[in-house]
Amino acid sequence: MQKTLQTTVAGSLPKPAWLAAPQTLWAPWRQTGAVLAEAQADATMLAVRLQTDAGIDIPSDGEQARQHFVHGFLAGLDGIDFENKVTMGIRNNRYDAQVPQVIGQLKRKGPVHAMEARAARAATAGKVKFTLPGPMTIVDTIADRFYGDRIKMAMAFAELLNDEAKELEAIGIDTVQFDEPAFNVFTDEVLAWGIPALLRAAQGLECTTAVHVCYGYGIQANIDWKNTLGSEWRQYERIFPALAKSPIRQVSLEVANSKVPIEFIGLLKGKDVLVGCIDVARETPETPAEVADTIRRAMAYVDPERLFPCTNCGMAPMARDVAYAKLAALSAGAALVRKELKG
Ligand code: ZN
Repeated sequence: MQKTLQTTVAGSLPKPAWLAAPQTLWAPWRQTGAVLAEAQADATMLAVRLQTDAGIDIPSDGEQARQHFVHGFLAGLDGIDFENKVTMGIRNNRYDAQVPQVIGQLKRKGPVHAMEARAARAATAGKVKFTLPGPMTIVDTIADRFYGDRIKMAMAFAELLNDEAKELEAIGIDTVQFDEPAFNVFTDEVLAWGIPALLRAAQGLECTTAVHVCYGYGIQANIDWKNTLGSEWRQYERIFPALAKSPIRQVSLEVANSKVPIEFIGLLKGKDVLVGCIDVARETPETPAEVADTIRRAMAYVDPERLFPCTNCGMAPMARDVAYAKLAALSAGAALVRKELKG
């Protein structure tokens, strides 16, 4: 019988200090050239091992070889000007970011993430997942000086993501997840072209496919934004019925310490649900009992075979020891509930 309540992570993890400055988004690399590539591969293997040591059933590459979850993929493409970044309000002007510009036909220079995908694959005999940014979120994180049409540009990115994802699958990655935090911001556009672009990115994949829709890292801009969303965060209510009808197998969502009405999980009929049990804005690790409580609440809406206890979001900006302590609590909390189910 398949193990129930398999634990996993949303994606990113903090990098070792020898690779990049800790607790900093977009931290510059501390190595260059071939040494950097080797350091990124080492950090990836280490991240996978630390996750499995913490008891995580489906570890991720931890995004150790990219500066940022979107820009890592963009760095491997032709048609983008990284030299002349412009300031753009992203996630519907929630915060300003320095973003690169699309200046020509988009094309992959070659495999973008193969190196660290192989390192992650080699680090465990078990399952391993890999995250890519989703097309809508990319479009919301880059300035367009070429396509003149967001949908056209999203589809161009989706095709390239699909080529990349197929290579990751060939390397032996078990789950490819597309990160779409923008889905919670542009709910009308999600239905019109966000999900179609996502499906183009996932087209023809035989590995497990997932989409992560969250309310962002635990950074101040996101905490401030969450404070404007009212007493109930109802964004998922619009998106989930459409995702439930799609062939994407898993949906990763935020639950712990959020104002998401838990019953929205019930809108994801037939899907694997990655339930966020770890709050990435909180410095103290959850207790296993707190994690178990979140899992039990979610179990009212999804069978334990389809419920995957997970983190709310990527942990990249967190202190490294805190992040791994939280992962250990996640596994311990899942183990508590598993024991109740057997008993
Ligand atoms: Zn997230």
